[in-house]
This record gives sequence, structure tokens and C-alpha cells, in this order.
Amino acid sequence: MKRGKVYLVGAGPGDIGLITVKGMEAIKQADVILYDRLANPKLLEYAPAGCELIYCGKLPDRHVLRQEAINSLLVEKGLQGKVVVRLKGGDPGVFGRVGEEAAALVEHSIPYEMVPGITSGIAAPLYAGIPVTHREFGESFAIITAHDKSKEGQPNLNWASLATGIDTIAFYMGISNLPYISENLIKHGKSADTPVILVRWGTFSRQETLEGTLGDIAEKAKNVKFTNPAITLVGDIVSLRKRLNWFEQKPLFGRQILMARTDTNESPLAKELINQGADVIEFPRWTKTKAPAHTEILENISSYKKILFTSPESVTDFFRDLFDQRIDVRRITATFFGESTKSVYAIQEKGFLASLAAEMDNDLEHILVVGDNSKQKSYEQHDFYLTSYKQVDEQFLPLLARMLDEAQVNTIVFPSSGAVKVFMAEGVNKGLIGKELLEKAEIVCLGEKTKNSLREFSYQADLVPETPSKEAVITCLRK
Ligand code: SAH
Repeated sequence: MKRGKVYLVGAGPGDIGLITVKGMEAIKQADVILYDRLANPKLLEYAPAGCELIYCGKLPDRHVLRQEAINSLLVEKGLQGKVVVRLKGGDPGVFGRVGEEAAALVEHSIPYEMVPGITSGIAAPLYAGIPVTHREFGESFAIITAHDKSKEGQPNLNWASLATGIDTIAFYMGISNLPYISENLIKHGKSADTPVILVRWGTFSRQETLEGTLGDIAEKAKNVKFTNPAITLVGDIVSLRKRLNWFEQKPLFGRQILMARTDTNESPLAKELINQGADVIEFPRWTKTKAPAHTEILENISSYKKILFTSPESVTDFFRDLFDQRIDVRRITATFFGESTKSVYAIQEKGFLASLAAEMDNDLEHILVVGDNSKQKSYEQHDFYLTSYKQVDEQFLPLLARMLDEAQVNTIVFPSSGAVKVFMAEGVNKGLIGKELLEKAEIVCLGEKTKNSLREFSYQADLVPETPSKEAVITCLRK
């Protein structure tokens, strides 16, 4: 029987840039991905279309997929000859039960690899401006679980050696046991004045911190109802944060953006917003199947006077077909038009002059429109060159619900009027995105046309950047 391979991968703490190159490569070739709650779901967008996605975290209607069930799924999929990725938050070997999963694979002789990840106990402090060691403040560092499988959930640690022998301590899963942790450390010799910081959702734009001392942190956390997932970092080193708090100073830190999209490709705007410190959820995710080349149209390509491209992707797909059919572009005598500025840029990148569709004259004869199935209906009166079929990826719908649950979306970005329509049809009308969110969040529309489309649905744009460029969007979101 064909044997698959299982990759036990650390997803890193949250910021998707913190996964390893090897981890990302595994995702890109996966047939199945089993992922945890703490692995950033945005990473799943890099999976190939059709990859099966299995959530292993808590669900509203049932409990966590039990460890034994996860182990058997890994074995089952592995035996089916699939490339399986088990994606875990942080590092799979740090409180990640990777040992149990690997043991199950060994038992069935299924080949596997382990891919380390950046653990949250190091990354969350660093994104809060605290290196876990420093020549003056801390020469030793320990990673400790503050929760165990006993009935009370309180780990039986060697408190005396922790309190006196280790400079910096990162407690995982610790918020509910904060009183237990601080009491024990103080009782065994750590000063009640020792600085402590809690870092929740570290490395995400929604990162939150709470500072205190061993003496008062439990009380403070209770007062503000601070919850997991958070790292509790104890040690004098915490004082470094005052000067080194780099991440929270990023221009878009705290911006939790929901962005409508019509493209199947990775959005350069989303990427830049993330670089500037924002979290971006893009909706919906599309799957695309290429349509076969329409050879008759291509062979008669010289007969068209105008060609209108309805998206940047349609430009790429059309010229690829032309080349694949060995039809020289010089046979085209038509003038080129793009439906949006982005499509015009895409045509120009191929080396052709192009104008916006709005600038087309009234002569509607001999026009060829190029686009995917979503555009076909609006251009019924013309010859239509269908480049691809695009469909909303249903697998990502439950993911959206969970992401919206965990993030506090405060900004919505509409890049185009097409994106407005898709967002309303697939998100709002299907009940996935609540209307309150549209009322509460700050809404950014790229361009007047987009703003007007939104108005047709009775919502107002709060911000319209001067140009649709990445820079202008960022400037406008900074204000
Ligand atoms: N394997 C993971 C840890 C899993 S245990 C790792 O290496 O990071 C789950 C605990 O990890 C949470 O309760 C929390 O204490 C911590 N954690 C995971 N992601 C976190 C994040 N982004 N910010 C803060 N703590 C996080």
C-alpha cells in the first residue's frame, strides 16, 4: 500500500511570518491539515485548493477532538498515502503532545517529520519588548506549565528551586492559576516585588498585556478578567519593556481588519497591512478552476476592435491561453481596456497601453470581454472570453466564524465595488457576518465607486483614501 507522510509542524505563535520555511512548504503540499485553535488560521490559506482542513480545537457543539481521536486520524490519513500536516501553535514539542502523536505513527510505521516552531513563551515576550535573557537581568530561563492534568489542574513543581534558581520564568496556560503561582514563588523566596507581565494573544495585532508584580498580578488580572491564551512572564527582565516595546508601536497595531476580496491570489494590500502591525482576515477565500481555451475566439482575435479585461487575473489567464495556443499577440489590433485601475495596471505590465472602461466610446461593436464566471452575466450583450470558474471555498466559512469570534474586528476594508457585492452576498446575507459589525467597525472604501456601491446597501464609508495605493490606505488608517 502507498504510504503517506505526516509532518508535525509548529505554526509559530500567531504572526504568520513566524512559521518556518520548512513548515510553510509542508502546508503548501498538504492533502490534509489537522490544525489547532492556537495556530493562526490564516496559514491555511497557503494550502492547495481542495486540501482537507480538520479543526482539532474546541467547537461550540462538541468537546475538543480528543487526543486519541487525533492520533487515529493521523494514522488513518497517513495509511491512505496522504501528505498530512498536523499544525500546532508555537512549537509542537512545547506542551504540544507531539510525542504522543509521533508514537502513534511509529506504531504503524508511518513516515513522519517534526518541524520546530517558535514557541509563545519566547515570542510573546519579545513582541512585548522583552528578550527572555539579558546579561544584566537574566541568565537563566525556564518554560513551565502552570496547568496539569490533575484534578485541581495545579502542577506539582519544585517551587524552591524555581524561586531561587531561575531568573526568568515563562508560565504557559497559567491565568487561572495565577494566585497559586505567585503565592508559591513568594513563599519559596522570590520577592513580592518581582515584575510580572501577562501577554495575551502575543504576536497578533490584538496582543494585550498586563503588568504588575508577583504581589499584585493575580488581583489585577482578576479585576480586568484577563484570560488565556497568555504567557505569564516573571522576572526582573520585564523592566526592559519600557524601552524596547517595538511591536505595539507599529502604525497599525491594534487594527483588526476584515477585508473583502474577489481575488484568488494573495492580496499585496493585506500583506502590507500585516507588516504595519494589523491583523487581516480576508473574506471569502476563492477556489479557481481554469476554463479551457476558447480556440475559436482566439483564432479570430484580429476581428475585435476593443478588448475589455474585467480583472487583473483575467489579463494573466488570457495571455497565457494565447501563448499556449501559439497565437502571436501581434495578431491583436484591438485597443485594450480595464474595468478597474488594477486591471489597467495588469495590462500595462504586459507592455500595452490601456485605458479605463469608463473611457470607452459608444461604439459597442466588435468588443470582446475577458473574465471569469462571476462577470459573465453583466456582459451578456458582448462576446465573452471565459478564463476561469471561481467559487467561494466552503471549507473556509466555519473558519471565518471562529476568527470573528476570537478577533475584535474594528475595521472593514472594501477594495472594490465587486468586493462589496461579494461581502454582502456571501457574508452578510448568509448570516456569517453580523450587521452590527458593519455598524460598529470603521469602514474603508478604496475609491468613490466602491463607496457608492456600499451606499446602495445603506452603509456609509468612514474613510476613502486619496488613491487606492497601499501607502494611501495605510496613511488613512493611521489617523
Ligand atoms: N505549543 C505551544 C503551547 C501550547 S499550550 C507553544 O509552543 O507556544 C497553550 C498555551 O500556550 C496557552 O495557554 C498560552 O499560555 C500559550 N500560548 C500559545 N499561543 C500564545 C500566544 N499567541 N500568546 C500568548 N500565549 C500563547
